[in-house]
Amino acid sequence: MSGGRVIALSGGIGGAKLALGLHRVSAPGALTIIANTGDDFRHLGLHVSPDIDTLLYTLAGLDDPVKGWGRRDETWTFMRALAELGGETWFQLGDGDLAIHVERTRRLGAGESLSQVTDGLRRRLGISSLIVPMSDEPVATRVATDEGWLDFQHYFVRRRCEPRVSGLEFVGADDARMAPEAVAAFADPTLRAVILCPSNPYLSVDPVLAVPGMRKALAECAAPVIAISPIIAGQAVKGPTAKMMAELGLEPSAATVARHYEGLIDAFVIDEADAGLAIAGLDIVATPTLMRGLDDKERLARFVLAVAEALAEPRG
Ligand code: GDP
Repeated sequence: MSGGRVIALSGGIGGAKLALGLHRVSAPGALTIIANTGDDFRHLGLHVSPDIDTLLYTLAGLDDPVKGWGRRDETWTFMRALAELGGETWFQLGDGDLAIHVERTRRLGAGESLSQVTDGLRRRLGISSLIVPMSDEPVATRVATDEGWLDFQHYFVRRRCEPRVSGLEFVGADDARMAPEAVAAFADPTLRAVILCPSNPYLSVDPVLAVPGMRKALAECAAPVIAISPIIAGQAVKGPTAKMMAELGLEPSAATVARHYEGLIDAFVIDEADAGLAIAGLDIVATPTLMRGLDDKERLARFVLAVAEALAEPRG
């Protein structure tokens, strides 16, 4: 398989699974992961970047495979002590996890950009792939629900995705700029694939696409753009994607996700359970996409890169 840069757009849990596969099959430093920061928020005075942290922990092998978020072998002394004091405990922060939020907040306060902080953290954790926030400017995902507008973490964690969703907004997106390393990755002449990970299209990928210049970068780059469906046989593997689609009046299906990305992608990878889906003008390929172990993640990563390679070959 040929070398060259690969860009992956990713949210948290679903995206990080494929990002890990891509990381493992790429040459050191050849993968740039552009992370959603629409979920970022300030909590207990700390800057929390949930998707960046899921990517950092996953690629560093520190992730908790059971919970799917946070660090493995975590302890909870801080949380228990906070509860005793009557503090806010709806957002769980393990003792080890707390360190990353404290350190990020300190560095941001000292004047570093979120890109610089994230790059410093991934180097310390020994990760060769680049992890880049979509923007260094704040963008906040807000969810319109039957309980009114909710900040993302209030909807997602505090209210456990129970409210009915009727719309989304990405506050600050219009004034945000792509992070410098994201711009550099799209300008890399060796760029061979842009991959939209199997993340929630509405909550994780749309905020990234809302950053001015991002859609243009995808449209203008010479490399194939490929999305992987987070919906398998009408269901999300984890999380609220299918529930949210139904509430937005959309049929929860791989076809709906494909149409959501229509015009932006060159190929769409669906699960073999959905094989047979056809949309005029779009290359659709089916393969097992459920990523349980490391083997699944590497296999899907190789498959997606092979699709990119086939698309890049001049067609006769
Ligand atoms: P979040 O930011 O933690 O919500 O995570 P993402 O947005 O990155 O991922 C959530 C999406 O990942 C959900 O829609 C899941 O259906 C999808 N997902 C999780 N695991 C898998 C998997 O193994 N295969 C596929 N195809 N999708 C997955």
